[in-house]
Amino acid sequence: MDGTTMGSGTLESAQRSGGVPQHDLPLVLAGSALPVVGAARVYVCGITPYDVTHLGHAATFVWADVLTTVLGSLGADVHTCRNVTDVDDVLLDAARARGRHYDELAVVQEAVFERSMQALRVATPRHRPRSRHHVRGVQQLAAALVAAGAAHEADGTVWFHGADVPASVGLPEAEALALAATYGDEPGDPAKAHPLDVAVWRPSADGEPAWPSPWGWGRPGWHAECAAMALAVHGASLDVLVGGADLAFPHHAFQSAMVRAATGVAPFARSVVHVGTVMVDGEKMAKSTGNLVLVDDLLESCSPPALRLMLLDRPWAASWSWHPGLLDAAEARLESLYAAAARRPSGDGEAAVEAVTARLRDDLDVPGALALAEEQGGEAARHVLGTLRLS
Ligand code: ZN
Repeated sequence: MDGTTMGSGTLESAQRSGGVPQHDLPLVLAGSALPVVGAARVYVCGITPYDVTHLGHAATFVWADVLTTVLGSLGADVHTCRNVTDVDDVLLDAARARGRHYDELAVVQEAVFERSMQALRVATPRHRPRSRHHVRGVQQLAAALVAAGAAHEADGTVWFHGADVPASVGLPEAEALALAATYGDEPGDPAKAHPLDVAVWRPSADGEPAWPSPWGWGRPGWHAECAAMALAVHGASLDVLVGGADLAFPHHAFQSAMVRAATGVAPFARSVVHVGTVMVDGEKMAKSTGNLVLVDDLLESCSPPALRLMLLDRPWAASWSWHPGLLDAAEARLESLYAAAARRPSGDGEAAVEAVTARLRDDLDVPGALALAEEQGGEAARHVLGTLRLS
């Protein structure tokens, strides 16, 4: 559908969809229908609580929030899980650098993150597992992978065999190695059977959190933590895996490969939402680049709905560049949408609401839904503002 015509009155859409009412049609994600019967299982790769929330994080979690809302509006019993990675290299490094205990840093930063999510009107996910509560699950995963011949143990580390993982996501091996290196993997480690092997379990250094295991005292690897938490909350497969585009490889590729190898169930995720990267002056917004734009800073001078609108008024998969003018534009757009909501509808209000819902169901087409709501006015505009929590 294009962005300017109504095209889906109740009768017309029911006829086009073989008599199935609009709210029983499946969500379409990235061009593929995702039929959901009963429960929808969504896993959102959450934060490592070591720093404040920037626009890149906010974009991922606001889109996950909209996905949850739209699935719910289609009648699914949505189980959204957003984890907290509270045992992780970057958290340990940050705590060391600041001279603080890693647990103290994690607790404080998680609270700050939750405050930002509340300000952005992100609903609290139904499940919020923490890595430290799933250490036993990682050990079970490691044991299952060793038993399946998909991992081996060497000097207290359980290495998952990663040779086939790049091909499973259509990535050339050289590119995969380069990406893995940006996450601190050491391809040359002689304990690995292949340069792309990753640790499911690893020994802890002095001063790091450590748990007893069949392979000695140690701690979980990052990809294995998310694999174990997804297994614990959702079981061997899920409906939508969500995260920033930079998590596609290695993190999500390895998380998925570990679960598949341990359970024999495929696919791990029926659908994937990798939210587009936020750029600043041509570079990815990242702590390592030193170009972070923080949510708390922006909220000092703009309204939360305007910030939310700025994140959502674009295709979810597209990368985009931040500049301050975007917030001014979002504030103006909001005023225009509020004005549209206050005026009499220009046509059949019920059909317009249904048309707006159809846009959101079609790959979470927020720009299309907003354009239609602005054009139609009245209930359609109130409906989309309410659904997207922009009012
Ligand atoms: Zn994850």
